[in-house]
Order: sequence, then structure tokens, then C-alpha cells
Amino acid sequence: MEIHFKQANGGNYLPASRGKGDIQYLVIHFTANDGDTAQNNADYFAREDISTSAHYFVDENEVWQSVADHDIAWHCGTKGTYYHPYCRNANSIGIEMCSRLQDGKYYFRQGTIENAEALARMLMEKYGIGADHVVRHYDVTHKTCPAPYVESAAAWNAFKTGLTGEMDDMTADEVKRLIEQSRTVYGTVDAVPDWGRATVEKLVRNGWLKGEGDGKGLNLSEDLLRTLVINDRAGIYGE
Ligand SMILES: [Zn+2]
Repeated sequence: MEIHFKQANGGNYLPASRGKGDIQYLVIHFTANDGDTAQNNADYFAREDISTSAHYFVDENEVWQSVADHDIAWHCGTKGTYYHPYCRNANSIGIEMCSRLQDGKYYFRQGTIENAEALARMLMEKYGIGADHVVRHYDVTHKTCPAPYVESAAAWNAFKTGLTGEMDDMTADEVKRLIEQSRTVYGTVDAVPDWGRATVEKLVRNGWLKGEGDGKGLNLSEDLLRTLVINDRAGIYGE
């Protein structure tokens, strides 16, 4: 894969001479922006001196590198508590995925996911890193990053599956979360969260979703709601 390079401002990272063996983890982040590109981020971190950085930025079209692999980027440090016993800035590579925002929820475009997976697979191969050492920023400090993969354990597992073709072992936390999600049932239109409300209203309006009338008794599970919203975004239910 083609990787563009634009050196980050010297104030944003720590020059080092890490080699294979020193780099043990890949940490996945999201930019928490809406509509940014990998190049936008590389330009920004080259220009500004903000004591923060990541090695790579990925969007649906390109990959830009900002800090060399052998240097230490400041992407997962904290003055607070570390929840991961080993993963730190010093032994990891940070990958930022450009996000998009819809109905108050961040998501990744499919091309961004595929490019991030391809980059991760290349780095795993290069440094001998296993899929169990590909973690979310959340796993290191409990920051809600990358939000789409903190809010959905299933989406994170799908990303991990894309690295190896195998399902990663879920943590007890993630299993608990999945069970909770599968139990969530929205009984009325008003109970549906903002990100799904417009879709449900449209389906009720068109008579495709009935329940017991008056928008009650819908019994939509979280999973079904997600599927309906994805279909709606794809234009399946019309304007
Ligand atoms: Zn992060």
C-alpha cells in the first residue's frame, strides 16, 4: 500500500531508535472529526506544536504517516490510570482513523475501515505483532476512543476479524455489553435513541412498521434498529 509521509512538528513526538521487538502493540484511535482527511491531519500535526501525535492517519482514500515507526508518538499516554498492563506510547504504534458524524454518532466509512485493516496487517507482519496486541485507545486509558468501537463491541470484533479472518476472544466486559445490547428493546417511537428516530418515524409513517398502533408496542431490538438505520442510510426506504 502507498503511504504518504509528512514529518510531524518536532514538539509532537520523541525521537527514538525503536526496532522490531520494541514495537509490540498497535493502538487504534478515531479523530473525532467529521469530514477530515488523512492529509488534513498530517498537515495539522506538521504545522502545530501541541505535544500530541500519532504515527498514521487513515481515511477512505489514503494513508498518511506523521511520525516514523522508530520514533515514539504521544497518542495513548495519561496522567491518570492505565487500564492496560503493558501497552504504552513507548512500545506501540498509534493509528488514527478519520471519522464521520451522523445523528450525533461517530462512524467510519467502509473504505476507512478497510485501509486501517490493511495498514494494521502490514505492520503486524513487519513487527511480528499478533491480533491480541491490536488494541483500542479505550483499552489503555478508558478514553472513549475510537468511539464507534467502544460503543459497539460487535463492530470492534468485526475489525479484529478483518486482521486475521478469525474471531478474537471477547473479554468478559464485551460479552456483557453484547448481552445488554441484545436485550435492549424500544417499545415506542419516543424510546428510540436520536440516531434511529428518523428511520423509525419514516417506517411508521409509511405503515411498514406497525406495532400496536400510535407508535407503541414496537419491540425493536438494538440489533434490528441498527439494521433498519443502515438500510435507511443506504436509501432502501426512500426519501
Ligand atoms: Zn485515541
